[in-house]
Amino acid sequence: MDKPFIYDYTLEELQTWAKENDEPAFRGGQIFDWLYVKRVDSFEQMSNLSKELRQKLEDQFQFVTLNEIAKYESKDGTVKFLFGLQDDHAIETVIMKHNYGNSVCVTTQVGCRVGCTFCASTLGGLKRDLTAGEIVAQVVQAQKILDERNERVSSIVIMGTGEPFENYEATMKFLRLMIHEKGLNIGQRHITVSTSGIVPNIYKFADENTQINLAISIHAPNDALRSKLMPVNRRFPFADVMDALRYYLAKTGRRITFEYALIGGVNDRPEHAEELAEVIKDMLCHVNLIPVNHVPERNYVRTPRNDIFEFQRILEGKGINATIRREQGHDIAAACGQLRAKHMESNAR
Ligand code: SF4
Repeated sequence: MDKPFIYDYTLEELQTWAKENDEPAFRGGQIFDWLYVKRVDSFEQMSNLSKELRQKLEDQFQFVTLNEIAKYESKDGTVKFLFGLQDDHAIETVIMKHNYGNSVCVTTQVGCRVGCTFCASTLGGLKRDLTAGEIVAQVVQAQKILDERNERVSSIVIMGTGEPFENYEATMKFLRLMIHEKGLNIGQRHITVSTSGIVPNIYKFADENTQINLAISIHAPNDALRSKLMPVNRRFPFADVMDALRYYLAKTGRRITFEYALIGGVNDRPEHAEELAEVIKDMLCHVNLIPVNHVPERNYVRTPRNDIFEFQRILEGKGINATIRREQGHDIAAACGQLRAKHMESNAR
């Protein structure tokens, strides 16, 4: 059996491991520090540990290897990576440069089974879940890249391939590792997890008592249209998602972001904006409008610019804060899942 990934372990688990191996618990803290603060690539480099202990680590754990298959750099500073995992699956990770810092978009699953019709990530279905450590490794890798220019990862969005709430335990462990003050220490309010609406885990997440932001891919103002765009809506209907979100709001008092991908002629008409406003007007929320990227496999067209502004105007007219997502990395043509889809295609040839 493959050795577990060292990044799958929390500080407390490393402390327990140290004790089980006849070492004082603080060795666990030293290992954690080497992983997250000094960011080494091997156990050998953990120079304040004895040779024996380093050997034990070597024997029992492995680092996550992320082999860079491809790297695309945009003029706007966005860098998209296609990383190969040990088992030859490929995942995408993106570093985005904003005026307030660097944000990393991570992937939580190899592929996705949710089936949103505008998304390239789901075309080959779900291959497997990532472990917490494989999600962690994406951020650590990004931080190592940023280290070269003395910058840091200041925020994380869990919006890459996969439905994080279908890989809930690994995602939560990843989040706890990211916010740990002795690790990368990313501020909770600088992390956003985005779900397509896996209702039971919205309730669970509400009860976790964190300050991490929640975004919901809503993409339609009613049940019928949402089911057409997102088959997941048949499992967890629109009204149930809204109930779960109301629970979340009551429990956390934290503002929700609704992600709304505008698809030309499908969900981008003024009546859709009116209907959406009606449904969410009493919620503490914000709407993020995302003009869809063209997915060659689907027949969707882009919403004309003026219609995007009109949609935003209608929402704002009803008192709902709405922004239009700044498109990053457009010149490298890589919307979520497209790099991986291309890679799978060329491997299949
Ligand atoms: S948009 Fe997200 S949840 Fe929907 S299919 Fe793509 S990766 Fe899965």
